[in-house]
Amino acid sequence: MIIGIDFDNTIADYTGVFYDVALKLDWIPESTGRSKTEVKSYFIISDNERKWTELQGIVYGKEIDQARPYTDCLQVLEQWHAKGHTLKLISHKTRYPIIGEPVDFHHAATNWLKSNGFIGSNGAPFSESDLNFNETKEEKLLCIDKLNCDLFIDDLESIFNHKLFPARCRKVLFNNNSNNKEGLTHITKWSDIPEVI
Ligand SMILES: [Mg+2]
Repeated sequence: MIIGIDFDNTIADYTGVFYDVALKLDWIPESTGRSKTEVKSYFIISDNERKWTELQGIVYGKEIDQARPYTDCLQVLEQWHAKGHTLKLISHKTRYPIIGEPVDFHHAATNWLKSNGFIGSNGAPFSESDLNFNETKEEKLLCIDKLNCDLFIDDLESIFNHKLFPARCRKVLFNNNSNNKEGLTHITKWSDIPEVI
């Protein structure tokens, strides 16, 4: 089977990272909620979307090492790799931030995958040629189609609902939202994925 996997918020867990980085920069008060959504809301309510964009650039760039792999994610991918499944990382990620220091996001994510055992080590699930960083959402969807994925795992429902999402590809939504969605498999932790495949 060819299994496609998103990167940000599917493999890499940024829980608390937006809060920690923004607090350290003194861009938010301590009382702001710790989730990404709450940090984003603070900037939107303060009418400072530009700072939010800049913060994303910092988190996905030079502070990416603060992100952690989701529990059991590496183990599940290693098992699939050992069983002979083909694994492809397919991410929507611009190469450089819109605002701020021009850190190469593709390079930063590749290094993160290396240092967390997803590429380069013995039994690692990906080789560098399996990484597909796409500048736009449309390119990402076309890539899922072109690589003939039988199944795709993503934290965003908007990917699965998009008209370019290939009809033959099975949808696995990975996030913490509690309501069940029609037409896709919804899981909240990586250890539940092997059971649905
Ligand atoms: Mg994502």
